Formats: sequence, C-alpha cells, structure tokens
Amino acid sequence: MGLLSLGTPLPWGKSQTYTELIRHHGIEQFLALYNKMKDKKTECLLFGDEVEYMVIFMDHNNKNAKLSLRVSEIYSELAKEEAEAEKDPKKTVQSGWRPEYGSYMLEGTPGTPFGNKIADLTRVESSMKLRRQTVMKYLRANETVVTVTSFPRLGCLGEFLEPHFEPGGPVAKSLFVPDEVINPHPRFPTLTANIRTRRGSKVAINMPIFHDTKTPKPFIDPTIQWNRDKYPEDKEAASGAALPDHIYMDAMCFGMGSCCLQITFQTRTVSDARRLYDQLATLAPIMLALTAAAPIWRGYLSDTDCRWDVIASSVDDRTEEERGLEPLKKNKFVINKSRYDSIDSYISTDARLKQEYNDLPLVYDESIYKRLIDNGIDDLLARHVAHLFIRDPLVIYDELLYQDDETSTDHFENIQSTNWQTVRFKPPPPNSSIGWRVEFRSMEVQITDFENAAFAIFIALLTRIILVYGLNFYIPISKVDQNMGIAHKRGAVLNEEFWFRKSIYDDAVSSCRKTSQISEINRANLSNGSMSDKWEKMTINQIINGDDGHFIGLIPLIKGYLDASGIDHDTRRQLDRYLDLVSKRASGKLATTATWIREFVRSHPKYNYDSVVSQEINYDLFKLIEKLQTGQTKVPTFLDGFEI
Ligand code: ADP
Ligand code: MG
Ligand code: MG
Ligand code: MG
Ligand code: MG
Repeated sequence: MGLLSLGTPLPWGKSQTYTELIRHHGIEQFLALYNKMKDKKTECLLFGDEVEYMVIFMDHNNKNAKLSLRVSEIYSELAKEEAEAEKDPKKTVQSGWRPEYGSYMLEGTPGTPFGNKIADLTRVESSMKLRRQTVMKYLRANETVVTVTSFPRLGCLGEFLEPHFEPGGPVAKSLFVPDEVINPHPRFPTLTANIRTRRGSKVAINMPIFHDTKTPKPFIDPTIQWNRDKYPEDKEAASGAALPDHIYMDAMCFGMGSCCLQITFQTRTVSDARRLYDQLATLAPIMLALTAAAPIWRGYLSDTDCRWDVIASSVDDRTEEERGLEPLKKNKFVINKSRYDSIDSYISTDARLKQEYNDLPLVYDESIYKRLIDNGIDDLLARHVAHLFIRDPLVIYDELLYQDDETSTDHFENIQSTNWQTVRFKPPPPNSSIGWRVEFRSMEVQITDFENAAFAIFIALLTRIILVYGLNFYIPISKVDQNMGIAHKRGAVLNEEFWFRKSIYDDAVSSCRKTSQISEINRANLSNGSMSDKWEKMTINQIINGDDGHFIGLIPLIKGYLDASGIDHDTRRQLDRYLDLVSKRASGKLATTATWIREFVRSHPKYNYDSVVSQEINYDLFKLIEKLQTGQTKVPTFLDGFEI
C-alpha cells in the first residue's frame, strides 16, 4: 500500500503544494478501484486480528520497568524470519509483523487470515500465543514483551526508556518525551512533525485526573517544566494548553504509542461490507468500554479508563479555523472531530437504514461528492468518501507523486489510512484475491492471549449473527457518539448506561439468509420483541448477557447460533470459555483490565492516595503482568482461572 514505502517524505511546507494533487488522484484511484471491484464476490468472513505489543526492559536493580528502544532490531529479525518462511515452500508463514508508531512497539498478525468455519475460531488463541513466543525468541535477558494498552509512565520525570534520552527533540518538541520514542522509519517522524505544523501548535491532550483522597484540588501538575525555553511551543503549556485538574500530554506518542486490538473481516460482497460497517460502528463504544484497559497516563491515575480520546487528541491536526476558534480564511471547513475519531455517517444500502439515523451534520467536500456522484457512486458512499477527503494527506513521498490511477491506490490509501476511525471500510486491494472488508478498531488490547482471543472471537461470532440473522443495531449516529463519551468514564461497564436498540431483530427472520440456522429458542426470542424503531439506555450487562424478557442479549444470541451449528463438543467447550470471559466482564463478576490495574495501584503498599503511579508501583505492576501472561499466577477477581 505504499504506507511504509522507502522514499523521501516531504516536510509540511513542501507537501502543501501537492495536497490537491493527492486528493484529486486519490479520488480517481478510488473510482477506478470501485468500478473494477464493485461486483467482486469472495468467500465470506475470513478474518484476521492485529495485536500491538510493547517491549519492556525490567531494570531489577533500580526497580524500574522501562520501554525498550531495541524493537527495530527485534523487528528486523522477525521480518527476516517472515521473509524466509515466505520463500521456502516447505514452511508456512506463521505470523506477520509490522512496525508501529512507537520505537518500543510491534504489530503482529496471523500469517494467513483465519477461515470461515466455526472451528477455525479455535486457532486464534494459539496463533496469538505463537506470536508472543516468536517475539520472545529475540529478547535479551530482562526484556519482556507485553500487550498493555498504555504504558503508565511514558513521559514521566526520571527514566522510562532503555536507553534513557532527555525529552525535547525537534520533531515532537515535547516537554515529556524524546524523539527517540518515535519509530525512525521516515513515515512516523514526518507524521508527527506535519501534524504539529499543520495544526499550528503542539497537540494538546488533557485527561481528567482521578482525584484520590490526597490528590491536591485543584491539581496543578508539579512535574511539568512550565518555564522551559527551548522552542517557542514551550510556552503553550502555561498559556492554556495544559488544563488544571487534568493530566496534560503534548505529543503524538501518547496516543499512537498506545496499543490496541483490531479485527478485519472479509464479507462476500460490497453490500455486506457496508452493512457490517454500520452494525459494527454501533458496537464500537460498547466494546471500548468492555475492553477498557488504560487508566494511567504520564504517571497519574486518570478519571477515565480508555485510550480513545487520548489518541484522538494526539493526532488532531485541525487548525484553529477548522476547530471553529477563528473565522475560516485559509481553510475550507469547520471540522467537528479529529481525524482519529468515531465515524460520522452510516453507509449501508440496507433498507432499514433510515435517513434520520444519519443525524450528524456531515462535513464533506462538495466538489469531490459531485465527481463521485457523476461517476456512478451512490449518495451514501459518495458522502462517506467525500468526508474522508476533507483531510489533507500528511505524508507525501516525493518519489510516489505521479502514479497510474488505474493500477495504483497509493493516493487513495494515503487519505483513507490516516482517517483513523472506529470502523474502516476497506476496498479490495488491486491484483489480489482479497475481497471487501471491514475493520473493527475500537478495542483496547488485553494482558493475556486468552483475553485477546476471547474478544476477537466474540466479535467474529457477532459478525456472523449480524449477517446470518440480519440483526439491526441502528440507533441515530449522534447517540453512538454519546456512547463513545460514556465509554470513557471510569468503570463505565458497571456504572453507566449506553444507548442501544431495543428491537434488534425487526425484519430479521425474513431478511436472514439462513433462517434454518436460527434455533427454536432464538426463534421464540426473535419474535417476542416489539417491531418499533426504538432505543433506550441499557447497561452493558443487559446488552451482552440479556435480561429476562426485556432484551435477548448478544451472548444468548450467539449461543443459540452455536447450538444450531452442529459443532463438536470440544470446539463448543472452548468457545464457551471465551464467551464466559466476555460475559463475566460485562456482568462485573470479573473486573475490566482498567479496573484491575487501578485497584492494583490503589492497594499497593507504596501508593500515597495522591494519584501518583511511582516507578516502583509500575515495576511491581509489570512483574505481575509478566507472570499473568505466562500463567504463573492467578488473579481471581480479574481472570478467575481463565488464564490457564
Ligand atoms: P491494517 O491496514 O489495518 O494495518 P493489516 O494489513 O495489518 O491491516 O491486517 C489486518 C488483518 O487482516 C490481518 O490480521 C490479516 O491477517 C487480515 N486479512 C488479510 N487478508 C484478509 C482477508 N482476505 N480477509 C479478512 N482478513 C484478512
Ligand atoms: Mg496493521
Ligand atoms: Mg496498520
Ligand atoms: Mg497497528
Ligand atoms: Mg489495522
């Protein structure tokens, strides 16, 4: 896709000359691709996950867990192994590796996507385990590889990197992190500098502090170098960018340097992909809350549990005009969200998508919209693409400016892949057997392979029942946005309620492809509900587990589907263990990762009830995480024996 092409990325000043060129040809490329691929049919529901990892260096002498900056070395070994397996007909590629934003990060995928049989789901956990073992082969003494959403002490005073560097390089100009945290591949520093330059200031991330019993009120962070005088941007913190009672962060790494769990599904047709895109979008906030795993930022407990808002702010390249703070002069649009955020419009051709569900004012480029419509794209898809294309390309490679729009999709992908939204509608790449796909992007990564497999499998099963039963999760998209806000709240799974559709199966039985697969139990449940277009606030427990007679619940629906599927006893038992974990996290029988980490900190003997997560507490947390992920210890409130 050219994303990691080796070439010369242009600095912002130069790249501005070409933004219109990239946008123009990006649309030409989309049109050529769409016209070639619109009737493409593939095997249904192949899928693959992406797990992001951090490598940690355990400095036992100083009781300090640090991020290891040795990952580019480790990555070259992994890439070599992958390439050798690809060349050797006797070997299969077991895992795929990609560099990530942080120079302490990696992304691992299965070597080939998982198949569409239910039994294929049982390969997910072993694939994840194998990936972890593969990385471990290349680790040195005292290094460990973890799947943790946010590194608690990134950007703290003192040492959090191995080797140590002082903050304040010219790329991020951060008060807290050095540029050495950024993957040195030219794409990543260029993204960082261009976002900052385009915006006209450093990014400003503020997460509310968790006020513990001894946290000062108001909380004014004593660790910020308010008076540093290295760059003009240093003044921003004291002139309003850093909010009181918040944990302030000023660099892309705080967001893009955190880890997540993403799942990509291939559907049979483009219209199935559009349907799945919409339905999964409504589930994104629910799954964000359920997988919440990020309660600590820059050494402080925060009053939120999730990473999403941090990343949204960390790549917010909108100018003051675009943020509505200044009247529009140079820019074209006032834009309501960062380029990393929840989606703004549904796109399905499903008749159950009512116009009023797309109730957010959609900002889109009228001339691009017109070109798309004039070339045979329908209204909803044209709006979607014209909305993505309100953004500027952020990394332009000098060598890749001029391309054949019939065969290349680089310029389209340039814009598409820097719209980091809750779900992504992915057209088939040219010259490949891959079909139309949807990527589910909101979940936070969990500590053990078992948990990551459980959430991946839960979503995979959900996609099947969505398509097979024709489930309808539509609520107005503004309510999905409200749910994103609710998902961030501390302990949202247990304390909050989310908008959800009451009747998720109207027209389901008639529109479902394989009616015979609906078990008698489900058939009864399906016809119980009212046919009205209504939504209400439900707890995640109600949504996932159901409540008697009121809402059927997603896990009971999945279990009904499995009952009717005729799978063997062993496969069923294994799948039930994954579903049980999800069910218990939803009901509160087990704590979320965020709650467990927060409680670990608050019950640590060295914790002073002042929100501070010290070096030693962090070290003890990672010692325990190391044991948890290899099954050497049990935490009943969190994993309840599932880790074995
Ligand atoms: P991204 O652009 O999101 O970084 P990646 O290329 O890293 O996407 O991979 C996303 C996932 O898609 C991987 O797990 C990969 O195994 C999976 N994948 C590859 N081909 C297909 C396919 N035909 N259908 C579904 N998933 C696929
Ligand atoms: Mg990837
Ligand atoms: Mg990627
Ligand atoms: Mg990734
Ligand atoms: Mg991805």
